[in-house]
Amino acid sequence: MAIRILSPQLANQIAAGEVVERPASVVKELVENSLDAGADVIEIDIEKGGSKLIRVRDNGSGIPEQELVLALSRHATSKIADLDDLEAISSLGFRGEALASISSVSRLTLTSRTHDQSAAWQATAAGRDMHVDVRPAAHPVGTSIEVLDLFFNTPARRKFLRTDKTEFSHIDELVKRLALSRYDVTWQLTHNGQPVRRLKAADSAEQRQKRVAALCGRAFSEHAAFIENQYGDVRIWGWIVQPEACSAQLQCQYSYVNGRMMRDKLLNHAIRQAYGEHLLADQQPAFVLYLELDPRQVDVNVHPAKHEVRFHQARLIHDFVVSALTDALHQLTPRPQLAIVA
Ligand code: ADP
Ligand code: MG
Repeated sequence: MAIRILSPQLANQIAAGEVVERPASVVKELVENSLDAGADVIEIDIEKGGSKLIRVRDNGSGIPEQELVLALSRHATSKIADLDDLEAISSLGFRGEALASISSVSRLTLTSRTHDQSAAWQATAAGRDMHVDVRPAAHPVGTSIEVLDLFFNTPARRKFLRTDKTEFSHIDELVKRLALSRYDVTWQLTHNGQPVRRLKAADSAEQRQKRVAALCGRAFSEHAAFIENQYGDVRIWGWIVQPEACSAQLQCQYSYVNGRMMRDKLLNHAIRQAYGEHLLADQQPAFVLYLELDPRQVDVNVHPAKHEVRFHQARLIHDFVVSALTDALHQLTPRPQLAIVA
């Protein structure tokens, strides 16, 4: 075969292979965009586990009419402009690939209105050249993105979708993780028209604790202690469960770096090391932990789905987390009810 340039749609579909694994990955990308747009109300509607419909509606800043086409093109982002920005990323997105990728493997409609526009506009992209159609629409300030028939044109990917129930459970788990990353946001999740989660913005310590209890379960919140520790400008806070209470029913292992949900090896290793010999073989640590540090000290551009980070001072961060948690675990007398260990 002669060398040829891929059609925009095919190029986007290839990129989609990295970011869009399943319906939950679409929800993640859309919600991260809503958060980056400053939304504090996010409504997520799902039908048939997301294979029929994924709709994310927010009250964020919206996208100006003249930028709708760009929003759907690959490598188009409002979040970084140069290498300096890339080295200190504070937004959740920055690759400018999600909407282009998702729209190449679904029927995507983007409806948006900014506060200085009197009307909303709607955009759809289709075909091999990903031509975008823009027309007037009705929508309050903010953005709605509707993703219909995910993978309808990539049958090999569609085949990998599990049952609606399984796909929805991935979405619900993701929404839990997201809701634990942003207490100031009101979240709503429905499946096939039925309300599944409704979490009002939590702006006091008590309301935050209620959200943790709602998402991690009563057993978790009964045995979890609030912890907080700081070293220089690195801070860790959150809830950990005393080792004696850790059990299979307390499956709550959530960690965040600068507000990003992570499955970070270094962090997990540090947490395990702190729990160390406190745990029996069949016990797992249970925690909701937030690590905060200067964004220039972490590289988030490691993985397309941004699951991992690289710490510039990995050793120091690791040792800080181990010592902060070791101290906290030492201080945990048996069964304190959400005691404060500062
Ligand atoms: P990225 O998030 O990496 O910039 P995306 O493809 O996810 O790339 O989005 C492209 C652009 O579209 C964003 O940079 C942003 O300007 C705009 N955008 C997407 N979703 C929203 C939203 N919900 N509200 C406001 N702007 C949005
Ligand atoms: Mg994005």
